[in-house]
Amino acid sequence: DLSLVQFILDASHPSRPLRKPTSPWLIENHTGTTWFAEDIRSRVYGLANSLSIRWDLKENDVACVYSPNHMGNFVPTPTRFILKQRGPEYPIAVWACHRLGVVVTPANPNFTVDELVYQLQATGARVLFTHPDSLSGAKAAAEIVGLDPAAIILFEDISSQDIPHGHPVVAQLVKAGLEQPTHYLEAKLRPGEGRTKLALLCFSSGTTGKPKAVALPHFAIISCILQLALAQNINGRNAEKGRYRSGDVAIGVLPFFHIYGMVANLHWAIFCGMSVVVHGKFDFEEMLKSIERYRINTLFLVPPHVVLLSKHSAVKRYDLSSVRSCSAGAAPISQELTAEFYRALPNSRLIQIYGMTETSTAISMQPPGDTPTPGSAGCLVPGMVAKIVKLDGTLSTHDEPGELWVKGPQVALRYLNNDKATKETFTDGWLRTGDEVIINKKGELFVVDRIKEILKVRGFQVAPAELEGHLLNHPYVADCAVVGIPNDFSGEVPMAFVTLSEEAKKLADSGNEQVDHIKATIEKHVSDTKIRYKWLEGGVEFMDTIPRNPSGKLLRRLLRDQAKERVHNR
Ligand code: AMP
Repeated sequence: DLSLVQFILDASHPSRPLRKPTSPWLIENHTGTTWFAEDIRSRVYGLANSLSIRWDLKENDVACVYSPNHMGNFVPTPTRFILKQRGPEYPIAVWACHRLGVVVTPANPNFTVDELVYQLQATGARVLFTHPDSLSGAKAAAEIVGLDPAAIILFEDISSQDIPHGHPVVAQLVKAGLEQPTHYLEAKLRPGEGRTKLALLCFSSGTTGKPKAVALPHFAIISCILQLALAQNINGRNAEKGRYRSGDVAIGVLPFFHIYGMVANLHWAIFCGMSVVVHGKFDFEEMLKSIERYRINTLFLVPPHVVLLSKHSAVKRYDLSSVRSCSAGAAPISQELTAEFYRALPNSRLIQIYGMTETSTAISMQPPGDTPTPGSAGCLVPGMVAKIVKLDGTLSTHDEPGELWVKGPQVALRYLNNDKATKETFTDGWLRTGDEVIINKKGELFVVDRIKEILKVRGFQVAPAELEGHLLNHPYVADCAVVGIPNDFSGEVPMAFVTLSEEAKKLADSGNEQVDHIKATIEKHVSDTKIRYKWLEGGVEFMDTIPRNPSGKLLRRLLRDQAKERVHNR
């Protein structure tokens, strides 16, 4: 019956003597500025007060945060002294909203205007926090959805400091809010209310269709944090070695707009008594420097980061001996990559976390004490119940593949304003994951395939339905299907099968040059309007007819096999 901010800022720490008083909550990577609980708490109060006074924000309103992991501290330059104590702005924006009962919807700061418009419209956001680098996109999207420009609130940065932009700035709002009398009454949740009161609206495509807002209540996220922490207490031979400890220092390179960054990297790490060294943008060499400088021992990564750590020549130039554990989630890690990782960092543990936005992050993780079977995504976190359903609807036993259905306190409530998708995915109290898994006799889970449509590109979801809808708008495209093809670095990348329109067919008949032109035009149609990880890096292939079953559903498995074959023959 607590909100996430009450749990993190008010409840968890006074009762957790394990957090070392000298261990800050957050550290800004460039400047090394540290933030402790009291300072954060007062900034959260100041901002919440201003949000209430100026925008009358209140329970169940929605605020969108469209920004990288901004901490608000400026880097000194040779010409100007611009180091200022600000921030940590991204987390305080989230927590200030939660103080007011406002629901936060985090958006990828590299989203194009169209993509941001989609999220703002789907959630009905009343204010938009943004970073100077994303300001032009924020303004354009706000205009389209009819959001007052005065409701765009800026995380000030070196680039915005001296430029007149006319937008309210978080640092000033904090100051103003601290100077004025308290204008809001923080809601105490009634018994059971935490289960329904929404904290976050993160986006996921679920098993089919376009991205949807996942309704995540405070209770689910707090449960997930506790489940992850409890999973650490499962004993085993080497439990002490792998377990997180108070005073640990964690890297904060995962974007907070993704559930894994928001819940595991930010909230869970803080709950466990760690200091999180926050990076605004991912830069591999900067991450290595940061590990050496802050003696970081805990990494939260996605598979492409693990690929870099295992293969990149720069790794040898830095002292990474402090690293004790490396959690990797959001997409599978192969046995080969696991072996390479251990060759590069032999003294650390690679811990796979498997989960999804609809489960506030975690379904399973490797307990610290075990030596996992290579390729396994660990054991179910405590409190999670699972069944594996075969194609014929009967249940699998050990080592038999089927779709994973789960139940647990960390499961989301529904998709916002989408009864059809909610009914399909949240079925009879179970969540259908859309993943094909097996569980062995040791209780280890292996994700063997994905039954659902989504692709995972560098840990990010790509919804084929979104790209297919967009491609169909192009005059060259009569029909199409988007599938993933394997890629060493990104995990997979999107490829489009296209049936050409009559106009494009005539053009294609006039020679190879025109064929190349058509493919390039179709690829550009995507890259002009979609964020980079959705681009058709797997290319475009022509097909006379796109295979469908009698009810018109795309035969995606068949298409995926054909895609592999075409790539092989290129
Ligand atoms: P998202 O909601 O963006 O976190 O995507 C969730 C999906 O990512 C899951 O349903 C899986 O298909 C995939 N996924 C996440 N973690 C893993 C993992 N450790 N191994 C394999 N697939 C994963």
